[in-house]
Amino acid sequence: MKALSVIFTPLLNFKRKIMLELLQAAQEYGAQSGSLGISQSGSLILMVVIGVLGWVVQARLQSVFAKYSQVAFPGMLTGAEVAAKMLRDNNIHNVKITHVSGQLTDHFNPSTMTVNLSDSVYSSRSIAAAAVACHECGHAIQHAQGYAPLVMRSALVPVVNFSSRMATWVIIAGIAMMASGLGTTVCWIGIAMIAMSALFSIITLPVEYNASERALAWLESSRTLQGVQLQQAKESLRWAARTYLVAALSAIATVLYYVAMVSRRND
Ligand SMILES: [Zn+2]
Repeated sequence: MKALSVIFTPLLNFKRKIMLELLQAAQEYGAQSGSLGISQSGSLILMVVIGVLGWVVQARLQSVFAKYSQVAFPGMLTGAEVAAKMLRDNNIHNVKITHVSGQLTDHFNPSTMTVNLSDSVYSSRSIAAAAVACHECGHAIQHAQGYAPLVMRSALVPVVNFSSRMATWVIIAGIAMMASGLGTTVCWIGIAMIAMSALFSIITLPVEYNASERALAWLESSRTLQGVQLQQAKESLRWAARTYLVAALSAIATVLYYVAMVSRRND
């Protein structure tokens, strides 16, 4: 849901894994070269704070969605039916709505032109299901209109896939070279690769916020949801968007951490 696209979900997991590996490598390097610098400890604290914040936001999102999954959708339409209506109203006739298994796996897939809705959305007649279904249709409309941040994000996918896969090894090699007095160039290349992931998560923000705006605008203008129920849909999508905000902050903090580590070595 919240729109983690097929591509973005593995990327997120991947990033988490890389971050752990990198942190470990950096901690070992830090232990060898004495105490951490001020900016390095600062960015480490920042990462921990953002990590806790991420946990809080995720927990809140789950509880908000659980709550509004119990609130019946006034028109008694399923998530899939609401999605079909929104696409029709926006003159999109080449996108299919399909069912995908799992929880929070909802996404729009531009390569197959499908809006994929998960178990708890596809056949559910709730406010939360309607909000998620419309958010995914928001991505389909972005795609149809060539919405620039979405185009940029799609173009970045292969680059980020490659760089996030290689970054760990480049950084480890860079740290080893730095420790042997061979300069910091390789480390900076590794940091530039991590920065690509951060750039990706920053570009993801307008894409996600805009998809939710489109969803809410349609829900309101079509009078599909009104009053309190519209507010409930808004609240659901707002918490979903916050998870992307935290992910972006976390990616930025990771880059800062490595920049601080390598710059300290340069002094
Ligand atoms: Zn989304």
